[in-house]
Amino acid sequence: MIYIHIPFCKQKCSYCNFHFSTSLNFKDEMLAAMKKEIYLRKDELQNKNLQSLYFGGGTPSILSPDEIKSLIDEVLQYFSFENDIEITLEANPDDLDKNFLKGLAESPVNRLSIGTQSFFEADLRLMNRAHTSNEAEDSIKRSQDFGFENLSIDLIYGSPTSNLEIWKENLNKTIALEVPHISSYALTVEPKTALENWISKGKVISPKEEEQNREFYYLSDFLKDNGFEHYEVSNFAKPGFYSRHNSSYWKYKEYLGIGPSAHSYNGFDRRSWNIANNQQYIKKLNANLLAKEEEILSQKDQFNEMIMIGLRTIWGVDLARLNEKFNNEILEYFQKEIKLKLEEGILIIEENHLKIPEKNWFMADGIAADLFVV
Ligand code: SF4
Repeated sequence: MIYIHIPFCKQKCSYCNFHFSTSLNFKDEMLAAMKKEIYLRKDELQNKNLQSLYFGGGTPSILSPDEIKSLIDEVLQYFSFENDIEITLEANPDDLDKNFLKGLAESPVNRLSIGTQSFFEADLRLMNRAHTSNEAEDSIKRSQDFGFENLSIDLIYGSPTSNLEIWKENLNKTIALEVPHISSYALTVEPKTALENWISKGKVISPKEEEQNREFYYLSDFLKDNGFEHYEVSNFAKPGFYSRHNSSYWKYKEYLGIGPSAHSYNGFDRRSWNIANNQQYIKKLNANLLAKEEEILSQKDQFNEMIMIGLRTIWGVDLARLNEKFNNEILEYFQKEIKLKLEEGILIIEENHLKIPEKNWFMADGIAADLFVV
């Protein structure tokens, strides 16, 4: 699978610390550099027959449909696509007008992940989103009218401008729109963001963990009552609509990341990440050089990663695979660490897979971190 990071956004959301630039001055140079990177790294993936291609960002919908198609064409020069390949484009509601959707419907993109975040104006203003609540709703309906049925929307819970009642209304609206996939995250205060600054100056109150906890479990129960499967801590899907791309990450498959700040993984012991700087990325690629750094993952790193990712999913951690892959020292440590947690029901084993029961998923990252080998 291939991930392509489009490092541009219209404006900076108050909570975001992803890599992007709000200047489009070097967009053409960036696209040329990305195409060069696809060519230079074409032999890194063992499986040349792609099951998924994902445009993330930043804001991929800032590109025109023709620019998106040209990147897909470039990928197709060196890779083939499985017949039922999933090609996802992350899109912001304000970009999904008729012209854009018409062009996109004529491209191979067959899944949209829409950055809705909330259907409420106060939430959207706090988050400094570029769209209004009306656009949030209309963009989904319009996408469906243009044939995009495989739709995911992002929703953020636990904002200081929200509460359980508003959150319930957000979810009612989502259900009414018949969206088959939802990714939902707690609002987190990341370093060096406007949100962090406002909170430190007392202009905005800090999100409350208790409230986020309540909203998370309401989300989970409500969506399950409405036919969704809760298949990863932050992801819910109707049967048949799991994100193939993200599921592959969670099953430790190899992937190639193109574009500034994109990460790659060889499915075994090697990870790399591209420089998170648009100008330097372009400069390197112009000189036919890759803009990446690489690390070999130690046994400890691989173990921690497997635990961290696996315990967030309904599949859990495959204990047979764990036993095959890791040395005795790590395995003995692991057995000792899980013993008490199994007795207390914080962890369970089902069909030789270690899992966190769903009732503890809000704390999944902390539980996983307790098992890390340091
Ligand atoms: S559109 Fe997405 S990537 Fe861009 S600033 Fe907002 S949250 Fe971050």
